[in-house]
Amino acid sequence: MTHTLERWTAERSTELYGVREWGAGFFGVSDNGDLQVSADPGHFDHAVSIPEIIAGIQERGLGMPVLLRIENILDTQISLLNESFISAIGSLGYRGSYLGAYPIKVNQQQQVVEAVTRHGKKYHHGLEAGSKAELIAAMGMMRDTEAVLICNGYKDEEFIDLGLHATQLGFKCVLVVEMPSELALIIERSKEKGVKPILGVRVKLSAQANGLWSESGGDRSIFGLNATQIIDVIDRLREAEMLDCLQLLHYHLGSQIPNIRDIRGAVSEASRVYAGLVGEGANMRYLDLGGGLAVDYDGTQTNFMSSRNYSVNEYCVDVVEGVMTVLDEQEVDHPIIITESGRAVVAYYSMLLFNVLDAAHFEPEPLPETLPEDTNIHIQHLFDALKDLNLRNIQECFNDILYYRDEVRQAFSSGRISFRERAMGENVFWETIRRIATLAKDLPTLPHELEGIGHALSDIYYCNFSVFQSLPDAWAIGQLFPIMPVHRLNERPSREGILADITCDCDGKIDRFIDSQGVKKTMPLHVLKENAEYYLGAFLVGAYQETLGDLHNLLGDTNIVTVRIRDNGEFDFVGEMEGDTVEEILSYVEYDTKYLLTRFRETAENAVRTGKITPAQRREILQAYKTGLQGYTYFER
Ligand SMILES: *Cc1c(COP(=O)(O)O)cnc(C)c1O
Repeated sequence: MTHTLERWTAERSTELYGVREWGAGFFGVSDNGDLQVSADPGHFDHAVSIPEIIAGIQERGLGMPVLLRIENILDTQISLLNESFISAIGSLGYRGSYLGAYPIKVNQQQQVVEAVTRHGKKYHHGLEAGSKAELIAAMGMMRDTEAVLICNGYKDEEFIDLGLHATQLGFKCVLVVEMPSELALIIERSKEKGVKPILGVRVKLSAQANGLWSESGGDRSIFGLNATQIIDVIDRLREAEMLDCLQLLHYHLGSQIPNIRDIRGAVSEASRVYAGLVGEGANMRYLDLGGGLAVDYDGTQTNFMSSRNYSVNEYCVDVVEGVMTVLDEQEVDHPIIITESGRAVVAYYSMLLFNVLDAAHFEPEPLPETLPEDTNIHIQHLFDALKDLNLRNIQECFNDILYYRDEVRQAFSSGRISFRERAMGENVFWETIRRIATLAKDLPTLPHELEGIGHALSDIYYCNFSVFQSLPDAWAIGQLFPIMPVHRLNERPSREGILADITCDCDGKIDRFIDSQGVKKTMPLHVLKENAEYYLGAFLVGAYQETLGDLHNLLGDTNIVTVRIRDNGEFDFVGEMEGDTVEEILSYVEYDTKYLLTRFRETAENAVRTGKITPAQRREILQAYKTGLQGYTYFER
C-alpha cells in the first residue's frame, strides 16, 4: 500500500470532489485544507474559509445543522444573467431588450426577494408571482415601476383585483391568462375598476424537453392554452375592445432543462406564435420564456439531468439569436425578452452545513490462524474458502462462501449452532468479502456479480440533518447535489461511505453522489477523529429546497445564517434566524404544548404517588421535559 505514503494535497481534494467543475468559481480549497468561498468567481485572494464561518456561527451559540447563505453570491448571479443578456443583445444587434423576472416560488424568503429587488434595481429585474400570497409579497417588496411584475397561476377575483391595483399604482403588472375561463373574469373586473390591464397568454408548446421537471411543456401539459384557445382569447378580447391589452406571450417548459437543443426548439416555436399574435393585431411587446435555465450540479457540462450542456452566456446568445432569426424572417419588431430564471439565480448562494455524529464501518474482527477442532463444519468450510482465495478463483470463492453462509444460517435456525457460533461464521464471511474486494481491484474486468462488492463494505456516516427537511429533491426525485467535507482537505480521505440522516427512516440517506462519469454510490470521507467535529457541506441548495422540505420525524427548520463577504476578504454576519424549537414543531402538528405539559405533570405525579420516583426526581424530570420543549429539533452536543 505504497500509495498511502504519497503526500495528499489540497489540489488533489479539489480534483477528487470536482470543486472546480460544480463550483462555478465560487468555491476553492486553500492550501491548509479549508473549503473557501468567494463572491467574485474565480478569484480567491479575498475568499473566506468556511470553517472560519462555522467557528463564528458557534461562537454566536447556534448549533449545526446550519443553512449558510452568502448574500453577495446572489448579487453576482443576478448580474451574470443580466450582463449576459445585455452582451448577447449588443453583439447580435438585437433591437429589443431584456428584463428578468425572479419567480418567487423558487425561494420565497424575504431576504431573497429583497436582494433581488435591491441588487436587481440597476437592471430593472422584476418578480414573478404564481399565487395570491406571492403577489402580495411581490407588491410589498417592489418599488421599481420599470421592472415587470408577472402574474402566473390560476386567478380568482381577488388575485385579479390585486393585479389591477398594482397597475393603478404604476407597476408593469402582467396578468397572464392560463385558463380559458379566467378571461371573462379579467375583462369584467377591468371594466368594473376602469383599469386597462396588461395581459399575457400562456401557450402550450408542442416542443418538449427531457429533464426531471419538464412536464410543464408539451401537448398534455396541464398549464397553458393551445392554439385554438389562444385564437378564442384574441376574438373575445377584440369583441371587448381590449385586444390592445394583449402584450405578452408566455411559456414555461419546465425547470432544469439540461439540453440547449430543447431550449432552442421552444424559443423558435414560441417566436412563431408571437409573430402570429402580432399578425392577429395584438399589441405585442414582450416574449416571456419562463424558467428552465439549468444549474450544473454535478459539474459534468452534459445533458445529464443534474447538469447542463451550455453556459449562461450560451443560453442568452442562443435565446436572442433564436428570437431574431424567426422574427426577422417574419418582419416583426423585436420584443423585450423576459426570462423567469429562478434556479440559476439562487442555487449557488445557499449551502447546508452539518456535522457527522458517528460512523459505522464494516470491518470484520481479526481471525485466528486456525479454528478450534470442534468448530461447526460449515464454518470450517467458510474458513477454508477464505484460506484458498487467490486472484484466479475469486468467483468460485464468492459462490462457495455464499453457499456456506446460508448453511450456517440454516444451522442456527434449526438449533444446531449457538448465536456466538453464527456470529463467528458471519465474521469469516465478511472478512472474505473484504479480501475479495481488495483483490478485485487488480482484476482487469470484474465478474458481473461482483460489481457492487466494494459498496457492500462502505461506511455509513451518520449526519446531523434531515434529508426530508433540507434536501427534499434528493429524496423525492433523485436530484444530485455536490456534497463534500469543508475542512481537512489536505488530508487523504481514506474511507468510502454513504450518508445517513437522523430521521431513522430508511429513505433518510444520501447514496448517490456526483461523479464525472455518471453517479457514484459512495463518497470519499475522512476517518473521524476523537473529540473533533467533522463537518460536511451540501452545496447549491438555494433553489426549491427550503420550502419544499417537510417535518418528517418532526425535525424542523434549521438555523439560518447569512454572511456578506467584504472586498478585503473579511466577512460580516448580516442575518441569523434560529431554527424551529421542539415546541414550535409540535404546534405545527396541532399539539397544545401547555396541555402536553399538564398531562406530563400528571404522569409524573402518578409516579410519585406509586413510589417510582421521589418529588425531587419529579422536579428534575419535569425540568428536562421543559428544556426539551424549548430546544433545537436536531442533535445537540
Ligand atoms: C417554476 C417556474 C419558473 C422557475 O423556473 P427555473 O427553472 O427555476 O428558473 C419560472 N416560471 C414559471 C411559470 C414557473 O412555474
